[in-house]
Amino acid sequence: MEMASDFTSLVLKIFKKCAGRSGCEVCREHMEEDCLFFPEMYRLHDLAEETGTPPDEKTMASLVDLCTLCGLCPCQDIRMLVLKAKAARAEEKKPPLSARLLSDARQAGQWGAGFSAVINPMNRLNPVSALAKKALDIHPQRSLPVFPKKHFFAWARKRGLSAPVKHAEKDTPRVAYFAGCSAGYLFPDVAKAAVGLLEQNGVQVFVPSQDCCSMPLIMEGTQKTAEKRIQANMETLGACIQEGYAIVCSCPTCGYFFKKLLKETAYYSDAFQQRADAGGNRMQVPVGSGNEKFTFVPMGIYKTFLKDNGYFSGIDPLQRIDLSMNVQDLGEYLLARHKAGPLSISLKAPDRALAYFAPCHQREQNIGHPYVELIQSLPGADIIPVGGEMHCCGMGGHLGFKTGFHKHSLAIGGPLFKRLTAASGRTLVTDCLSCRMQLQQVFSQQVFHPLELLSTSGSKT
Ligand code: SF4
Ligand code: SF4
Repeated sequence: MEMASDFTSLVLKIFKKCAGRSGCEVCREHMEEDCLFFPEMYRLHDLAEETGTPPDEKTMASLVDLCTLCGLCPCQDIRMLVLKAKAARAEEKKPPLSARLLSDARQAGQWGAGFSAVINPMNRLNPVSALAKKALDIHPQRSLPVFPKKHFFAWARKRGLSAPVKHAEKDTPRVAYFAGCSAGYLFPDVAKAAVGLLEQNGVQVFVPSQDCCSMPLIMEGTQKTAEKRIQANMETLGACIQEGYAIVCSCPTCGYFFKKLLKETAYYSDAFQQRADAGGNRMQVPVGSGNEKFTFVPMGIYKTFLKDNGYFSGIDPLQRIDLSMNVQDLGEYLLARHKAGPLSISLKAPDRALAYFAPCHQREQNIGHPYVELIQSLPGADIIPVGGEMHCCGMGGHLGFKTGFHKHSLAIGGPLFKRLTAASGRTLVTDCLSCRMQLQQVFSQQVFHPLELLSTSGSKT
């Protein structure tokens, strides 16, 4: 009998957990509209049951490609299995060069910004842009990004922000700002707005050296490269924590990655259990997905299946936990400061009615809608949240650019687009720059990051 590959075994494990006879089927009814992975997984599973033959590897690969890691499904371990399956598939069959280039956000951003004077004019020429899209396997209807003349990190270096804050006065707040690749290389005005707001409200800003958070890489299954970059970020950010900086992210995906995904299963590690010193024959384990509350369970029973054997278990579990506890979303950070004593901020163009979409990875951080609260506290503000708990724009970072995923991307976003159409007439606002690219394409209108709409009081812009 032919042995199942690692990839096949992992997909069959997902089938068994979510659709097998003794498995759970909670998502059969709930994930019909919001995710393409579950309906397809159930269809393939049922077909396999009927015919007695599991799907072939290619069909299974198309299935895992449907997961954008939006985080909306109820079980983290299923998402981790999908990630492991993507990695196993990439080990067995190397992703095409186009996918590797697109998912390497840092490298693509550095090249794009470095050669923007050549790339941008060439991309405006239809035949050249069509050729570039073909070479990179980008769908013809997607617009190619316009690269800035200077990326944010070069700007920050010139401003002296890439050196640690010297002589910080006691009680002066300090942040290490993790801008992420999209704000760093594609939308530097968002990152500059973040720095401006923080500095003009008395917060000292350090922009440490940083690599891609690695979400696009793990979505393509390139686990080893991702791990190297994660390790590099963890060392830098760990040193920032030691120095007393608060770590802030303006990108919800980076924030979700550091706060939620990376620490997955880390609490089950021996290192954490030793540090927790639960005593006796007990384990201290988190309750629910928030992981802020803990309970004790008998070690004998639970130790056999509560293990730090997830996707990121090759990385020190205590470092993963410590980093996750010290990262904040920038909106969350600003709102907390605003509540402690009003920030000096005002709303640009307060006459404009705004509609805010909270991106999936922002919602998964369970921090409410800090930017909406912040904006609503300002005179003349008219902002409404649009989109429900399960709505996703469907872009999935670089995935939405890919020829084969484009139609899926629009299908996933369909229910959200209907809600946003009902709010037409309002300016669209979202803090995810990937959502921004999707919504700009679908609605042919400019979409803003909330930071771009906030200016310091007295600022003329
Ligand atoms: S993801 Fe979780 S809740 Fe949904 S079907 Fe699978 S095991 Fe059940
Ligand atoms: S992470 Fe999102 S796309 Fe992936 S299975 Fe869960 S709900 Fe579906």
